[in-house]
Amino acid sequence: MIQAARSPGVRRPPPGQALTPERVEHYNRSGPRYTSYPPIPFWSESFDEKDYRAALRRAAAASDDPVALYVHLPFCAERCAYCGCNATVTNRSSVVDAYLDRVELEIAAVIQTLGRGRKALELHLGGGTPNFLTEPQMERLLRLLEDAFDLGAEAERSLEIDPRIATPEQVRFLRGLGFTRISLGVQDMDPRVQEAIGRIQPEALTRKIFLAAREAGFPSVNLDLVYGLPYQTPEVFQRTLDSVMELKPDRLSCFSYAHLPHLRANQKQVDARGLPATAWDKFSLFQQAVDALTEAGWSWIGMDHFALETDELSRALEERRLHRNFMGYVERAAPHLVAFGCSAIGEVGGAQIQSDPKLGSWQRALDAGTLPVVRGHVLTDEDLRRRDAIHHLLSNLELPHRLLEAREGASGRQLPALVREREALEAHADDGLLRRLEDRYEVTPLGRWFLRNLCMELDAYLPVSLPTAQSGAPRFSMTV
Ligand code: SF4
Repeated sequence: MIQAARSPGVRRPPPGQALTPERVEHYNRSGPRYTSYPPIPFWSESFDEKDYRAALRRAAAASDDPVALYVHLPFCAERCAYCGCNATVTNRSSVVDAYLDRVELEIAAVIQTLGRGRKALELHLGGGTPNFLTEPQMERLLRLLEDAFDLGAEAERSLEIDPRIATPEQVRFLRGLGFTRISLGVQDMDPRVQEAIGRIQPEALTRKIFLAAREAGFPSVNLDLVYGLPYQTPEVFQRTLDSVMELKPDRLSCFSYAHLPHLRANQKQVDARGLPATAWDKFSLFQQAVDALTEAGWSWIGMDHFALETDELSRALEERRLHRNFMGYVERAAPHLVAFGCSAIGEVGGAQIQSDPKLGSWQRALDAGTLPVVRGHVLTDEDLRRRDAIHHLLSNLELPHRLLEAREGASGRQLPALVREREALEAHADDGLLRRLEDRYEVTPLGRWFLRNLCMELDAYLPVSLPTAQSGAPRFSMTV
């Protein structure tokens, strides 16, 4: 079991550097989660198919580079009120067949330029609900991918499932297809919370599918939680945490709930009366999860992930060699992430690409023989240097000074030192968020809670001075 003191940054801050409501309020700012840098709102809508093809040609030229694969499967049996994902509700399996027809076209269009048989290190299916696919549909999808890429036995295959439509037989079937990692959406086990967010999922059902995944021999079984939900009091949330810890998942995520009914119409159905009243109330729930999980043997990874001590992510964190990509935290980062499906986000040949999030126009573009790109961004030397710094800080809880110094970029361009950024980090060191070491900054136990704020100092795209939250309002910015 991991001792709290061994896992970087989970120790309590020393007296005088306390986590107080005032400090939480001070750092309560909106900011990105840095799955990408620059964040998607800063990508260009003039990036089009021609730019994606050019990126694929660059990746084709680097023929030894392996890739990671992602497929977005947007279908769900019903829409959960709290959901912020790109999801399409249907009860017709033929809709999925039509979708897979277009995924087939998309794969063909990509490998036309990238080339067939590129080695893939990992495959992830996200959604929506990947286990909405029938067995023949899932087999078809894997056949399409295996025909186009070298998805050898050592490639990691992972997927997200909704336990409410899963069966033990389906879980065994997925394991038989070579999936090694399975993530079950849980959010909270409490019936009143579930009712408020429009997702009824009895605890017994979650346990049944979790145990079925263990029995099927999945090497990694993960659970996804959400905090900051209506009626999720500390007592209620503790019961969920206790229940989850008893199952002993290999990894957990604990995401902040963002209640944005003006942007997501389905969230108008959420019973918002029981939402946390203040930023501190919400922060305290996350603190409760961190305390419980790190004391019970999970390492705190990045902002909101947790992994058992025996998990490769924990070992990579100890050795400061963790990476971040669109799919989360990884030990081995492939140089390219090739993504398929509507709204899918990839990175190929030094460019970040997003596909059309609207199912109809995504399909029409593919039917017309074009790649359905809606926005993208070609990474500059400056972007790459800042992304390295942000992702290293986020993943490994330290920032080597060399990442802030003047240097030559990949294209030979000279990049100046990040002077303003260093001044900002110095101010955070004065505030107790960073420790000054000879060759690097190290995130302190106090700074661990405000990791996102530290990363934001290295972001050249954000406004220099960010507005703080309305007094007392829960935001979705800090580590929480
Ligand atoms: S929370 Fe999951 S299952 Fe529910 S609508 Fe969203 S993607 Fe579908």
